[in-house]
Amino acid sequence: MTDAGSTAGLTVVHDAAELVVGPDEGTGVVVLEDAAFAALDGEVVAVGPTAEVLADYPVEDAETAIDATGKTVLPGFVDPHTHALFAGDRSDEFVAKLRGATYEEILADGGGILRTVDAVREASDDELAANLAEHLDAMLAHGTTTVEVKTGYGLDTETELRMLSAIDAAGSDHPVDVIPTFMGAHAVPRGMDAEEYTESVVSDQLPAVAEQGLAEFCDVFCERGVFTAEQSRRILDVGRDHGLTPKIHADEFAAIGGTDVAAAVGAASADHLLHTGGAGRETLVEAGVTPVMLPGTAFGLGADYADARAFLDAGHEVALATDFNPNCFARSMGFVATLASVGMRMTPHEAIRGVTSAAAGALDLDDGTGTLRTGAPADAVVLDVPTATHLSYRFDTNPVSTVLKSGVVVRE
Ligand code: ZN
Repeated sequence: MTDAGSTAGLTVVHDAAELVVGPDEGTGVVVLEDAAFAALDGEVVAVGPTAEVLADYPVEDAETAIDATGKTVLPGFVDPHTHALFAGDRSDEFVAKLRGATYEEILADGGGILRTVDAVREASDDELAANLAEHLDAMLAHGTTTVEVKTGYGLDTETELRMLSAIDAAGSDHPVDVIPTFMGAHAVPRGMDAEEYTESVVSDQLPAVAEQGLAEFCDVFCERGVFTAEQSRRILDVGRDHGLTPKIHADEFAAIGGTDVAAAVGAASADHLLHTGGAGRETLVEAGVTPVMLPGTAFGLGADYADARAFLDAGHEVALATDFNPNCFARSMGFVATLASVGMRMTPHEAIRGVTSAAAGALDLDDGTGTLRTGAPADAVVLDVPTATHLSYRFDTNPVSTVLKSGVVVRE
């Protein structure tokens, strides 16, 4: 899914004012000052004080050397929840919302997801892949090196498979690692009720998706007026039988049992959680389900933010994602970090963990992605700011000066 074919030889990033290594024992991150890391063939082999790293891996020996004096180095951002493959323009719905229309009213009017479904069904394969590639470029420019992309604007077998192929095509051609999620159960198409459509997802779409062999996760929109907890559970169970790891959209507009489903099916993550109470939180934590919060969605809807502090104050981590889609036009994880701090009172270090290692956890990535520890993929972002705190603190311009994927400079 990545063109990581190019090997990097030795890469050294040195003299960083601050370097974030990975999660600490609390809910924050380990930060080193005047630090460096070295990578060989795409993998981190040393991280620590600049003098120590350069003693073993001198700049003269490096194929790529980056002087990060006065700058801050973070693991590449991992965006674990997007609907980044779509067609069409829904900016008029943004205006309708400003006039007071709710998301659910827009949906009931034939707008929202179903309008994007029409546009995606009409788009060619090449258009779809090109649309996604353009968004991947923007994400990379803002420091994202791994992204999850969902289907769910097809809502029939043929278009859902076409979406997975387009995700694969755009990802194969791009430095950003793209992880595909099948989300046929994103909305109920016109002319069917939720029960009939659930049957079609389970009996028609999932077997075809499994045979195609591209999707890694299966997701469902468990929500009032969309899919019930029972229907969601059935879809995720059958998806798992087909080898797809479950994920779930839960408690966005109402708590209808999505957290219980997440625990029952062993979901990698439960996402949104705007209306999750104490019982739901405990259910997720006990089941080891990573909570993913999407502050851009709350910001865009003018809604209350999810209660990240309730998880964090109890010692549990929180992953962050853009939820990039036509209803939430956000591709920058730095902006998401700002919203997490301002809207959910996450400290800048908690937000950095949310967009790196915690986000990797939401995608079941256990190879060190989201950290710069020894053995991890050398995915890193160099920010033109003096400390890690500035990721949340600044929200006017893009602070990214260099992005490395597997030790190779892919953006500067
Ligand atoms: Zn979503």
